[in-house]
Amino acid sequence: MSLDLIRASAHVREHQAKTFVVKVGGACLAKPRYVRRVAEQLACAHALGARLVLVHGAGPQANECQRDLGEEPVFVDGRRVTTPTALEALTKSTRALSRALSEALEARGSAAQPNSDCVSATRRPPMQTSEAEVDFGLVGDIQSVDADAVEQALDAGMIPLVAPPVPDGSGGHLNVNADLLAAELAVGLGAAKLVLLTSTAGILADPNDPHSAISVLSLSELLEKREEGTVAGGMHVKTSAIEAAMSGGVERVHVVNGMDEDSLLVELYTNQGAGTLILAEPEEVPA
Ligand code: ADP
Ligand code: MG
Repeated sequence: MSLDLIRASAHVREHQAKTFVVKVGGACLAKPRYVRRVAEQLACAHALGARLVLVHGAGPQANECQRDLGEEPVFVDGRRVTTPTALEALTKSTRALSRALSEALEARGSAAQPNSDCVSATRRPPMQTSEAEVDFGLVGDIQSVDADAVEQALDAGMIPLVAPPVPDGSGGHLNVNADLLAAELAVGLGAAKLVLLTSTAGILADPNDPHSAISVLSLSELLEKREEGTVAGGMHVKTSAIEAAMSGGVERVHVVNGMDEDSLLVELYTNQGAGTLILAEPEEVPA
């Protein structure tokens, strides 16, 4: 135990007062015990001095809620078509998850603060997809991030919590993809890391083999995998978010299983890691 602490201390020192944007996928919050696991690890990193900003989605929960409201969710090329009912379902679902996550963090000594109003989005015009021109409805692209508001919450020792939908600047709200939202926040805050907690062990070399997670790869290697089609679906969107974060100056992105008890802490505070680390430059990848 004391040896583990000694080994971790170099990582603790390195991460001290650094800003990490952590995006938590909806599946990682699907059950109270998953919420507890995520909150436990986040509260630990927070206690160890990391400045954490949380972004979360609510994909599966919003689908279920939309069906309860009598409408079947529609996706085109992996993107949700956001009807007014879909937006209502998303709002209800993300609010419930934010509350659950805040309570679980609070119980472990970390105070969270809702901060979704720090982002604004503009409605995305109809776009060409693989099938046809599609109007994705009440969906926006992030227009601005009020980094000062988030920094204030961080300076006060809080964990800012951001989730879609976000304000459209004229009284309404728009759905935005949570991975892209997290990337924009990481860029706006000059974050040291973007961490994507999801339901796989990282980026898989073979999407059909859950044990094939790649421990380190460069952004260009990741983009090649997307070209080849071995990175698809939700991970395709994540790749765009990773690309946006890195071109905005975020040097390290981690994709980690958020369903495990300790993968996030192992990835952040040990040498062996537990997920996929994506680095900007190919030459940085160890042989
Ligand atoms: P989240 O809710 O965390 O955003 P998503 O379901 O949107 O999760 O994205 C992750 C999913 O992407 C995985 O569950 C998997 O089905 C899919 N995927 C496709 N290719 C890969 C890959 N190469 N590695 C990991 N996941 C992949
Ligand atoms: Mg997703």
